[in-house]
Amino acid sequence: MADLRGGIDLGGTKIQTVVVDSGGKVLGAARRPTPTSGGPADVAEAMTGALLEAATAAGVKPGELSGVGVGSPGDADGKTGVVAGARNLPGWDGSFPLGETLAKSLGTGVRIGNDVQVAVEGEYHLGAGRRYNSLLGVWWGTGVGGGIVLDGKPWLGRGAAGEIGHMVVVRGGAKCPCGRRGCMEAYAGRAAMEAEARRQHDEGARTDLFKLMHKHGKDRLTSGIWSRAIERGDQLAESLIDRAIEALGTGVASAVNLLDPEAVIVGGGLGDRFGQRYMEALKSEMSQHLFVDDDPPKMSIAELGDLGGAIGASLLVAS
Ligand SMILES: [Zn+2]
Repeated sequence: MADLRGGIDLGGTKIQTVVVDSGGKVLGAARRPTPTSGGPADVAEAMTGALLEAATAAGVKPGELSGVGVGSPGDADGKTGVVAGARNLPGWDGSFPLGETLAKSLGTGVRIGNDVQVAVEGEYHLGAGRRYNSLLGVWWGTGVGGGIVLDGKPWLGRGAAGEIGHMVVVRGGAKCPCGRRGCMEAYAGRAAMEAEARRQHDEGARTDLFKLMHKHGKDRLTSGIWSRAIERGDQLAESLIDRAIEALGTGVASAVNLLDPEAVIVGGGLGDRFGQRYMEALKSEMSQHLFVDDDPPKMSIAELGDLGGAIGASLLVAS
């Protein structure tokens, strides 16, 4: 059997799996919704099922894979395979031996990494970042995550590097889902944007955001709902996206001042949806804060799309 690997992107709403060859070519893929009740063991079972489906599509058994990589939210320990505090997953406030559990159910080695970092490394090796030696990934979604590659190597710090969403853009500013104030994510994260839209709507601001949400059978303001509202010129939606871009420009420019990467790659649910449309606005916000303003980094949108997180996770498996 050729050198095939599995990759799993564990998200708050979906579990995306792939089986790829050694060049990162996708031979099988499957997606399942993330369980919304139960606990980590139920999530692990759904992950096993989804990987099995991708393997079947690729014509292999999971045990024949040279390994499976997982991009996980929360505090994912690459050495032990333990994931702790994945609060957007059901009953996952504590820690759970995800790597060990999956290794048993899949019959092959499992490596765990941070979801955003592995997606950024996927772009670095196979996508928008492959021409560069250093890059900053900004994953604009429910939260705002980041990943860093410096001199061709991932920079993980002591394990918690890349939390660009919690760079402070306004001292004493808006409340962030992390509990602190003024973080970039408090303005640009989808969850924080939804909370602010709801607050303004409750105070009488006119918006179709929540009408569209109900009409399309969603229980939250997905990137697709934001996109529909923007297309029909919804003023509240526009002002909140503008506010998000302002915060992103401020935070990303500050990070660029520190790291001086060759490129910035924008991904994530909102990044995929809005990155192109707002790229010029983002560049212009950034330019106000860049210390070296005549040579900004190259700005790109993530290229690997929906499967990028899972493909990036597969790279955790050593060749
Ligand atoms: Zn925060």
